[in-house]
Amino acid sequence: MNIHAPAPVGDAPVSKPRPSRAEAEAAMRTLLLWAGDDPDREGLVDTPARVVRAYEEFFSGYETDPVEMLARTFEETDGYDEMVLLRDIRLESHCEHHVVPIIGRVHVAYLPHKRVVGISKLARVVETYAKRLQIQEKLTAQIANTINEVLQPKGVAVVIEAAHQCMTTRGIHKPGVSMVTSRMLGAFRDDATTRREFLTMISMGGTTARAASEA
Ligand SMILES: [Zn+2]
Repeated sequence: MNIHAPAPVGDAPVSKPRPSRAEAEAAMRTLLLWAGDDPDREGLVDTPARVVRAYEEFFSGYETDPVEMLARTFEETDGYDEMVLLRDIRLESHCEHHVVPIIGRVHVAYLPHKRVVGISKLARVVETYAKRLQIQEKLTAQIANTINEVLQPKGVAVVIEAAHQCMTTRGIHKPGVSMVTSRMLGAFRDDATTRREFLTMISMGGTTARAASEA
């Protein structure tokens, strides 16, 4: 990753000048001191560099434009117009309030209108937005809105079920709690049968559908 990359694309926040790698590492060293440890001891001496490299991976989503990524679609679908569903996409994101992990799964469905897209692209859209600082509600809406704008399908549904480590390891300490968010557009919003079909397909023995229909 080029740390002096051009301004983020898509609906990523407007970029400010990025610090150098050395500045980022120095900031991490300050946080280690703040935690009460000695950044010069053997076990910590390489930690600032490691954390900065980890940040490059955690936040690589600012480098990609999900709209551009989805733009290559296939129109020869032989009239396929049933639901396309990608279930249980692993979610790894970070909350924008505490910069701690949000871990969960994402279900994405759409009803094609002439155009379909490679399924790996749907997973990549999820990943691109996940690898930014997020709140779950915004992440859910961004995934659904992007698919809706680019593919212009008859409908889009996104359900995210995730645990927030800022809730489980700090603050109110509530392990085992997961948050469910959903965004339904087009037929998934307007047609109860389509929505039910989607929720049934993603539940398959889980509790996601019930939770989502109450969300
Ligand atoms: Zn948080």
